Amino acid sequence: MSEQFIELYIHIPFCVRKCLYCDFLSFAADDVTKEKYVDALCRELECMGEERRDASLSSVFIGGGTPSVLPADHIRRIMDCVRESFCLQSDAEITIECNPGTVTDEKLRTYRECGINRISFGLQSVHDDELKTLGRIHSFGDFLAGYRSAVNAGFTNINVDLMSGCPGQTEGSWRETLEKVCSLDPAPVHISAYSLIVEDGTPFGEMYEDGDLILPDEDTDRSMYHLTSEILSHYGYERYEISNYSKKGFECRHNKGYWTGTEYFGAGLDAASYLDKKRYVNTSDMDSYLRDPAGVRVLVESLGKSDLMGEFMILGLRLTKGVSGSEFTERFGADIHDIYGKEIARFVKEGLLEEEGGYIRLTERGLDLANRVMQAFI
Ligand code: SF4
Repeated sequence: MSEQFIELYIHIPFCVRKCLYCDFLSFAADDVTKEKYVDALCRELECMGEERRDASLSSVFIGGGTPSVLPADHIRRIMDCVRESFCLQSDAEITIECNPGTVTDEKLRTYRECGINRISFGLQSVHDDELKTLGRIHSFGDFLAGYRSAVNAGFTNINVDLMSGCPGQTEGSWRETLEKVCSLDPAPVHISAYSLIVEDGTPFGEMYEDGDLILPDEDTDRSMYHLTSEILSHYGYERYEISNYSKKGFECRHNKGYWTGTEYFGAGLDAASYLDKKRYVNTSDMDSYLRDPAGVRVLVESLGKSDLMGEFMILGLRLTKGVSGSEFTERFGADIHDIYGKEIARFVKEGLLEEEGGYIRLTERGLDLANRVMQAFI
């Protein structure tokens, strides 16, 4: 029997305070709650490991929230538990998300010691006024200090998250953000560049409703979007997904797994899992989670063949490489053109999709209108 690979996401729902645009499940918590949460997380991880003795972990992603608000020994305990509960591939990619205001030399050293080999810093902007407007807790100076410590601790695989379309941001200030980050020495090997999305139920959502949130206009937003790929490609980054760029060989394996349909366990509050063609989500109620962390996974949906084919298209088109016709046939026993021939032909004619070497992918213009194209495959 061939070896089964699975990914693991671990959710740490704690932050120093909420950023004004954030709708992730995260909040401030005291030390006792953090400790109880880590106890519960370890119990859940042990049960997950029992469930899939046959599979080995190809990647682990400790995200949040802000995992770096936890004391270093909590992260060590979590990683010890991952190793004891699962068969972890020797070259597994193990990422931790860090907020620049919360890392210390000691934490970064501990991360390295327990096998974490990739750091993802949530920077967003190099301008302190923009960071303040977003409600971030850190300054650019804090990021520089954290970045330097991570390099000194031995990290070579570092991602930096950036955000365009923020209030007060201009094309010039976005250019400066991109250029300063690309010019770091050593430069990060991966950059995620997302556009701000104003979500309902956040302070930004309310400000937007009241007309108090002044965002860059549509033309500026578009220019920033194009500037991103232009500048990042100038500095040697390859765009491999709609919002993700990397130096050669440093694509994020964990996220690529999501986009190509790899199974994953999600541990922690509100974490999602995808196992055996079924989607699950854990409770978002902390008391229930602490009481019974292994019994809070709820089935959300079972995916039928047509759901899986649609998802294969939508997720695969996020990647600049596109979707492979032969892989489609291998998975679903059908020719991609027999199933989606009409949609593919229409978008090829409109210049939004192109076919080459057995792959179907978004064109430059298609990347701009990705949502419209993807809708057709739902
Ligand atoms: S640090 Fe991240 S998870 Fe925490 S509030 Fe800000 S955006 Fe949300």
